[in-house]
Amino acid sequence: MKNYDVLIVGGGPAAITIAKILGPHKRIGIIRPEKFSMIYCAMPYAIEKIVGMDKTLKKDSLVTDSGADLIRDKVVNVDFDKKAVHTEQQQTFYYDKLVIATGSIPFLPPIDGIDYDGVYTFKWEDDLKSLNDASKDKHKKKAVVVGAGAIGIELALALKSCGLETHLVDMAESVLPNLLDRDMSGPVEEELKQAGLFLHLGRKTEKVIGKQQAEAVVLDNGEVINLKDEFNAHGIVVFSVGMRANVEIFLNTALEIGKMGVIIDSKMQTSLPDVYSVGDCAQFVSGITGEPIEGKLATNAVPMARILAKNMLGEQREYAGFYNGAATKIGKLFAGGTGLSETVARKKYDVIVGYSELTTMFPIMPEAKLVKMKLVVSRADLRVLGAQVVSGNPVTDKVDLVTMAIQNNLTVNDLTGFSYSAQPYQSFFPANNLLVACAEDILSKSRN
Ligand SMILES: Cc1cc2nc3c(=O)[nH]c(=O)nc-3n(C[C@H](O)[C@H](O)[C@H](O)COP(=O)(O)OP(=O)(O)OC[C@H]3O[C@@H](n4cnc5c(N)ncnc54)[C@H](O)[C@@H]3O)c2cc1C
Repeated sequence: MKNYDVLIVGGGPAAITIAKILGPHKRIGIIRPEKFSMIYCAMPYAIEKIVGMDKTLKKDSLVTDSGADLIRDKVVNVDFDKKAVHTEQQQTFYYDKLVIATGSIPFLPPIDGIDYDGVYTFKWEDDLKSLNDASKDKHKKKAVVVGAGAIGIELALALKSCGLETHLVDMAESVLPNLLDRDMSGPVEEELKQAGLFLHLGRKTEKVIGKQQAEAVVLDNGEVINLKDEFNAHGIVVFSVGMRANVEIFLNTALEIGKMGVIIDSKMQTSLPDVYSVGDCAQFVSGITGEPIEGKLATNAVPMARILAKNMLGEQREYAGFYNGAATKIGKLFAGGTGLSETVARKKYDVIVGYSELTTMFPIMPEAKLVKMKLVVSRADLRVLGAQVVSGNPVTDKVDLVTMAIQNNLTVNDLTGFSYSAQPYQSFFPANNLLVACAEDILSKSRN
């Protein structure tokens, strides 16, 4: 039995951020069940053998060096009236303030065969170990990855690189549907085909069939992807079809839970006094529309946690919502997006879209590659709503630049006056700039 100033349930990036900031100042306890916290983003690259498996595990000292107590246990119940937390190992901890940072769990569709051997999600250390073992088998299994979002694609490419016949299935008509509009995803699809993946787009996964093991996957057009061969009685099926807030232990309590997680305000306060929530388990809003959005990412969990921790030290920061910046790597290509895609924006706004295509270096340089941008703005006030970038070079700097424009309500008029830098190895000629060219395209369309 111990009393903490701040007790954090969870051991992911949100919880760690809070422990690191508050550890030197307050009595902090952090409770998580798993032996190691994981660097989830690196998991595909461990399978691909770009980083060692051990590199996906975070060191406990990240938490304990700050002075926080790390408690390896699982919370089973919170008594909000008594401010007491009960755990699986029958421990009880008391708090002055509680932070719920229980993260998310992979969604599994309720279809036949979902519980068969060989069917995985892709989040937990066990998933990683099983898939990594399979990638080293002498006789390679066949694999189906369901979900062509960033995680699904990174995993599918990793499995393929290890020699597995790999199929990528998505019910959307194009890949990366939450990141890129269809008119931007063509080069990505081409890259995936070149890598040797079999794409099944616009196809729903109906069921997994076999004798308690994944022998085949059946799609809604009747197509059957056979996973059995002369060496393997079954194959691998990984569902990477989104995450759900992990709030099960709080259902049927006084804590208000929304469709996408624990309900919070702009200071991470829940419906209960002295109880806060941050990260994937919280229901957060779009910084653009103010409406709840999906997009559970560490780049949202960490800033939310930082705001909460700083406020617990006396600051008065507010969370404006998530702007949806995200990026991925697809073979030799990099793709990213921020804000609203055209598809999403059109549900709420009358929009104008613009495009620009330049090179990543002066075009006369031998290593220059193509880079393409799409910008989405509101027709009414020419305010920037979103952008997408596909390039032969990393894109996060460009994506983040547009996020800053969105966060500051900039318009295409502001962007046409953007003052940029240029150098032969790092940009197009001084004569043009990707963002400015895109803004000019929109401005000329707005005058028609
Ligand atoms: C394969 C993969 C790749 C990703 N790539 C990226 C990327 O490139 N960029 C990016 O920004 N994001 C990426 N993400 C998403 C990112 O990892 C999550 O958004 C982030 O981990 C959320 O942090 P969190 O602390 O809110 O929750 P989580 O990381 O989910 O952590 C939740 C913690 O709570 C613990 N917990 C749950 N229930 C209890 C309980 N009852 N008692 C005690 N502890 C409990 C869990 O064990 C865990 O330690 C990726 C995710 C995956 C799976």
